[in-house]
Amino acid sequence: MAGEAAPVNAEVRVRMVMSRAELCRYNDVVSREYDMSVRMPEPDAPVLARRDQIVRALRRIVPGEGVIASELAMRPYESDGLTAYRQLPMVVVLPETTRQVSRVLRYCHDQGIRVVPRGAGTSLSGGALPLVDGVLLGMAKFNRILETDFDNRVAVVQPGVTNLAITKAVEHRGFYYAPDPSSQIACTIGGNVAENSGGVHCLKYGMTTNNVLGVEMVLITGEVVRFGGKHLDSDGYDLLGLVTGSEGLLGVVTEVTVRILQKPETARAVLVGFPTSEDAGACVAKIIGAGIIPGGMEMMDAPAIHATEEFVHAGYPLDVEALLIVELDGPPAEVDHLLERVSEIARSCRAAVVRASTSEDERLAFWAGRKAAFPAVGRISPDYYCMDGTIPRAKLPHVLARMREMSQTYGLRCANVFHAGDGNLHPLILYDANKPGELDRAEAFGADILRLCVEVGGVLTGEHGVGVEKRDLMPAMFNETDLAHQERVKCAFDAKGLLNPGKVFPTLHRCAELGRMHVRAGQLPFPDIPRF
Ligand SMILES: Cc1cc2nc3c(=O)[nH]c(=O)nc-3n(C[C@H](O)[C@H](O)[C@H](O)COP(=O)(O)OP(=O)(O)OC[C@H]3O[C@@H](n4cnc5c(N)ncnc54)[C@H](O)[C@@H]3O)c2cc1C
Repeated sequence: MAGEAAPVNAEVRVRMVMSRAELCRYNDVVSREYDMSVRMPEPDAPVLARRDQIVRALRRIVPGEGVIASELAMRPYESDGLTAYRQLPMVVVLPETTRQVSRVLRYCHDQGIRVVPRGAGTSLSGGALPLVDGVLLGMAKFNRILETDFDNRVAVVQPGVTNLAITKAVEHRGFYYAPDPSSQIACTIGGNVAENSGGVHCLKYGMTTNNVLGVEMVLITGEVVRFGGKHLDSDGYDLLGLVTGSEGLLGVVTEVTVRILQKPETARAVLVGFPTSEDAGACVAKIIGAGIIPGGMEMMDAPAIHATEEFVHAGYPLDVEALLIVELDGPPAEVDHLLERVSEIARSCRAAVVRASTSEDERLAFWAGRKAAFPAVGRISPDYYCMDGTIPRAKLPHVLARMREMSQTYGLRCANVFHAGDGNLHPLILYDANKPGELDRAEAFGADILRLCVEVGGVLTGEHGVGVEKRDLMPAMFNETDLAHQERVKCAFDAKGLLNPGKVFPTLHRCAELGRMHVRAGQLPFPDIPRF
């Protein structure tokens, strides 16, 4: 395997199966078979050979129970929400202070050790998938709310605080934190920043990037930097904007300042059932076209409605092909007026059921179903693969029809749950990992959906990030020049490519190579550098 002169980023083959004997040479922790259909950077043998020494050094930086090195104890970290892919890290480190994070990163930088940051591990794109030769840096112990500042309408929190805990910390004063991923009970604000997460209320109140005002971040060199703060704008380039959505590739976030909002006076939701998904898609476009921005507008198709109703008993109609939940919020008079207009638009789009919530409990019941849709679908299939792409809203009917055709072609069922107002699709492809070939078919089906999103003028991601899941599809959206420019940004923060390598970019470059790609007579330069 690679020595000093060999490529740092050589890759492994498509089906990564490492024999027990081969792995045992490096250490016993990784002595098991890995079989992943996703290519990851080849483990750095010299680093693995020094594992014991590395673990000892890390224990000096993070004493006590902050370093986990036994195979059994590391098992919970082998995967994230994209459970199709899993592998054990070399070692797990759970720092508690920014100083510890800084010292760990500086050590890894000096020793050429890769680092994968992790929040709660709910990423659906494999963003927190560990590397066998890497440190998995878990931020769960950064779980304190540092300050609630109602005068400035901000909260300052550590990155391991869960999304919902922020709202819980400020709701006694009538405030809340608006972006609300369905995973909000578990996912961390650090993960939200890294993925630029969204949720039901982001249609009206913006994604994470619109609700984060500042971060403290540790660079791979150990330097601690701050972007933004409690104020609205910052000097110079919008580096805060760059960090939001950077998927753990630029630095490790150790503090976040978020905007908190006053809870709207009233909120009411209306359930609308349609005979076809196309009618529901058309209704979404018409509501927005009428100048109404609902607090949330979510859609489910028949398989998702049935799975959810069976699980949560939210009172959803079962004789419709598509269901919209539209929430209106604001002063009561405005909400009543908008509710009436939305109902009229829905009827003009052939709605079969229009039912407005008449109490807070009923409104919450409408949402309880939608929020539990993923686990509900998990009950009707051994495995599911959740895709995440975004399309122009007006293309919804066309895209839904094409997905139904693909479902037939691939012979796999697909349940659709999505943020309709944002045009953000979450097709859940149902498969059984124990049936040979089904995961491959699910992956191919998912890739076709994402290509379709790009084809109709949309994008590969919505809110789950690129991670490993969409990494190889990036060329469907960006050309070499686009990607090289994005990688230059990465290089400015992490010249050695140690932070979360193998994620987002379909090709691993050495930073020095960027901008010098010159294909001559069909021959790529630097043939030793892996191209996923
Ligand atoms: C049932 C379910 C429903 C979901 N619904 C939604 C939804 O509605 N909307 C949505 O947007 N997402 C949703 N997700 C996806 C996921 O919850 C989000 O992407 C979330 O932001 C991930 O947070 P996490 O703490 O789990 O991060 P992780 O999964 O641990 O990590 C995600 C990424 O963030 C990086 N990272 C984590 N912490 C830090 C840090 N402190 N500094 C730097 N990088 C860091 C990691 O390296 C990784 O690349 C859902 C997931 C599940 C399982």
